[in-house]
Amino acid sequence: MAEHFDALLRGGHVVDPKNGIDQVMDVAVQDGRIARVEPTIRGTATMEHDVSGKVVMPGIVDMHVHLSEWMGGPIGHRMLALAGVTTALDMAGPIEGMVSSTAKHGVGLSVGCISYVRPGHTVGSASPSPGEVEDYLAVALKGGAIGLKLLGGHFPLTQDGSAAVIATCGAHGAYVAFHAGTLETPNPSVATMEEACLLADGNPLHMPHVNSYCRGFEKPGVIEGQEAIEVLARYPAIWSESYLAPFNGFPGSCSNGVPESNAARRVLTAGGYAHTQDGVEQAITDGWIHVQADVGGVVGLVTGADGVAVWKAAGTMVGVSCMVNGPEPRIHLVTARSKDGRFGIDALATDGGGLPRNDIVERGLPLVRMNALTLADFAIKASLTPAHILGLADKGHLAPGADGDITVLDMDRLTPVLTYAGGRRLMEDGTVYPGPSRFFTTPAGRDTIAAAGLDPIVVAPGTMLPARAAA
Ligand SMILES: [Zn+2]
Repeated sequence: MAEHFDALLRGGHVVDPKNGIDQVMDVAVQDGRIARVEPTIRGTATMEHDVSGKVVMPGIVDMHVHLSEWMGGPIGHRMLALAGVTTALDMAGPIEGMVSSTAKHGVGLSVGCISYVRPGHTVGSASPSPGEVEDYLAVALKGGAIGLKLLGGHFPLTQDGSAAVIATCGAHGAYVAFHAGTLETPNPSVATMEEACLLADGNPLHMPHVNSYCRGFEKPGVIEGQEAIEVLARYPAIWSESYLAPFNGFPGSCSNGVPESNAARRVLTAGGYAHTQDGVEQAITDGWIHVQADVGGVVGLVTGADGVAVWKAAGTMVGVSCMVNGPEPRIHLVTARSKDGRFGIDALATDGGGLPRNDIVERGLPLVRMNALTLADFAIKASLTPAHILGLADKGHLAPGADGDITVLDMDRLTPVLTYAGGRRLMEDGTVYPGPSRFFTTPAGRDTIAAAGLDPIVVAPGTMLPARAAA
């Protein structure tokens, strides 16, 4: 009797670098997992897709997104699904809001969260003691987070406080990412990024959005990008990602008449505006700062009078963006390799989610078309490596038994046309089919995630940010 599967994707060009597959294959999905990948699979399926002429890759893992209410918001789940993403790491939290928001607004992705360390919000001061960090990490893990995020570019800690956060996460095998910047060294640059590498003191660390330290403020951006790659090559315990969008993102919030984020102040300086709430308003009016707004079910960017109206209606508590990322370092950081043939920057991410730049496919596939990346390179940077960094052993590849996470790409239109997440169709031809979300967490957070009605994926401490295999 012929076998029956939940889903069959027939005749696609399967690209699965971990398993050495780069050829036309059928893919069968059963019970949430990959069942078979073979040249011809006999049998039937509840859902069959003819994907001939299309590329079939492991589901895209965007390891840097924002889905919390204060930065982009719940609409981001849908935006990620439309962009072909099946797994994402929220890089701010706070975790309580992320769990409740995912339970309410999730559409079926696997989502995780690192919870921010912010003076006056989650820790008392900019120089929290190791004991205070220890306590906050325990709360965050119990709440479902996989670790902590240092927001040095926006809300810096001292050097000692930053080092204490990284060391504490390292001691517990928890995840930690550091948007570089400290009270002593607040401005983004390659030197600031290297300070962050030094403060890690050999502990594992995720260095986010390397492109944001290479904006050409001191040298041509492409040279800063190469310098950043050379710095990171000296710190093998540090994993890195960059993004391809021209827009940055930062909180537009003001209190007592001044913007709260350091990033806002830098953008105002670059545009020649005062570091005041009035300066922000003028920058929005003039089209220098763009405001995130709901533009028909997804977040877009609006500016001018419309932008000011959105920003004011939100009481300034809304994300904003500015076009500060030059093209050369963005492209260089995605394609450059070190001498041993590895990528200079490990992963391709977006810093998107609720921020309108979910462009791994939109801006990444053009690099494939230009032969700057192979399809296998693309799958490595957008799925296999980020899954490995996150300790998600069942993601990033299509071996039988792996999670049924698949992204299908149309190389003519440079767009995702079909995704499966957890063995269930998530998106097809621009339509999202919402289903239950999964949430990756550590054993400490399993009960919280389950109690919220989410399906926990438990990642063992110490398997995240793994040591690099010897070359
Ligand atoms: Zn971010």
